[in-house]
Amino acid sequence: MKETWNNLKKVYSFGKEYKKNMIVFTVSSFFAIIINVIYPIFTARQLTSLTTGLFEQLFWATLVVLLFDILGAIRMVVIRRNTQVFFRGVFQKIQMRVSQEILRITISDIDKHSSGVFIERLNHDCSELSHIFTLGVGQLTGILTNIGVLIAVFIINPVIFLYYFVASFIITCFYLRKVKILSKKEQTLRTANEKNIGLTGELVRGVRDIKMLNARDSFMKAINQSIMDVSTKIFESRNIEMNYTAFIECIRAVSEFLLVILLVYLIQIGMINVATAVVLFSYRTNIMSNLMQRIGELLNEVKMFDVSANRVFSLLDTTEFSKETFGTKHLGKVHGDFEFQDVCFSYDGKNQVLNHLSFKVPANHTVAFVGKSGAGKSTIFSLLCKMYPVTQGKILLDGVDINELDEDSIRNNITIISQNPYIFNMSIRDNLRLVKSDLSDSEMRRACKLACLDDFIETLPEGYDTVVGEGGVTLSGGQKQRLAIARAFVQRTEIILFDEATSALDNETQSKIEEAISNLQKDYTILIIAHRLSTIVNSDMIYFIENGQVLAKGTHQTLLKTCSAYNLLGTGGVYPLALAT
Ligand code: ADP
Repeated sequence: MKETWNNLKKVYSFGKEYKKNMIVFTVSSFFAIIINVIYPIFTARQLTSLTTGLFEQLFWATLVVLLFDILGAIRMVVIRRNTQVFFRGVFQKIQMRVSQEILRITISDIDKHSSGVFIERLNHDCSELSHIFTLGVGQLTGILTNIGVLIAVFIINPVIFLYYFVASFIITCFYLRKVKILSKKEQTLRTANEKNIGLTGELVRGVRDIKMLNARDSFMKAINQSIMDVSTKIFESRNIEMNYTAFIECIRAVSEFLLVILLVYLIQIGMINVATAVVLFSYRTNIMSNLMQRIGELLNEVKMFDVSANRVFSLLDTTEFSKETFGTKHLGKVHGDFEFQDVCFSYDGKNQVLNHLSFKVPANHTVAFVGKSGAGKSTIFSLLCKMYPVTQGKILLDGVDINELDEDSIRNNITIISQNPYIFNMSIRDNLRLVKSDLSDSEMRRACKLACLDDFIETLPEGYDTVVGEGGVTLSGGQKQRLAIARAFVQRTEIILFDEATSALDNETQSKIEEAISNLQKDYTILIIAHRLSTIVNSDMIYFIENGQVLAKGTHQTLLKTCSAYNLLGTGGVYPLALAT
């Protein structure tokens, strides 16, 4: 109960702006209670007037019923309109907040979870949270209406009240049991759903590889298992719900049958007349069916709400996912020199990827990192961008520990262009505008020209307004890389990291990009991880990385003479070093 109350308060904090709408739909809903309690009295009066021939009384009773019906219709419109405004507002605000928080989760926690975990919470759970006030008020007014009816019955006839009370108590117990079992099932269903959404997302994103690898059957097997898991859980829940509903319906039918017998008996002994019996009988649906059903449904909704609220709020705070933390120091435009001081790092806390790594990069120098795959080169870049926190040691940017810097000082000064950049499902123009919202057409063209992309864009019927599909699916690997390079040229940060950023380019484009990079060389700090020798030979310094340590350093010529492992890379086919000299 306390948990629900706290969750409600948290959700309400998102809907404060729509307080007026909430008051309107709450008041209108409660107004319905009065109408619903006295409505049966007038319908019963209509019936008795008709049978006894009191036509004037019939006329007035019918007029009141008509008035109630019209008021009911107006009330419905007012409630729906205001609940919609409230729901939409709260939903949008919660979703926005969840999206922001997802972007703050550390990459290591993102790596550990399937995308479904976030998608399910962003959609289903946010919707469930936004609905609680509108559904809750609806159910609560229904319950209060039915309690009002129960009180009316008590005033009219305490014997029937007692009967209704006992019958509804029995039915409520079964409803409560149903809710308890179903809410447990719901928790496991949501977890299975998250997994399923993640997997189906991968099916769509990985469709090309699945086809090429001819992995259709094994992937379908995994999908089938996941779908089966979800549908089995849904099936189990529905089964429990169906069985309980059928059972409760039987109890209700028997109760109604016994009620008729009791009413006939009370008429026979002269305790009530036929008209009163009709009124008391017409309340049966409100009490034995609606009241119990509404209590059950409200409890069910509260349970579902708590499940969703805990899942969403654990994402907003730090109970389930760790969040990126930044310092408070702000650096505007940095010079661009940085240093790794005795840095150690492990992704999983067991395997050490970087081992007491130390090196210094002066501003406006170009430095290359080479070494075998898995040596830790990309990890250096990730740590420099603060994608992961270092386990031990320090990384200094312009002499300041990056842990002390605020987010803008890091993100606005360092760009990384990776081997497999993510291109968004927007136009080329909008992909570039993501990094600079006030990007002018001339700046955009210049960046694309530098990245050797302008010729290709000119051939597209819609030019810069061409939408490139999810993940840039309509572009080739090389075009994606060039768009990512153009994005970096737009951003023009002081430090630019190229992580095998030109690996998918043909020789001609590669040399053009190298030219563009060399044009940047004296004005920017550039770090390169590259497969091809031509990209790194002109670097001011080359670090040979092995097992997360600097094995050797120097210019290309020095390393050729001093480092046999550097030469061996060439014979291993990774870098054609020996041939290139
Ligand atoms: P390189 O760039 O030199 O090829 P990486 O820095 O990418 O090497 O990887 C170094 C080691 O860290 C590898 O053993 C790799 O498996 C591991 N690794 C890389 N990224 C992750 C990650 N996100 N989670 C866990 N381990 C990782």
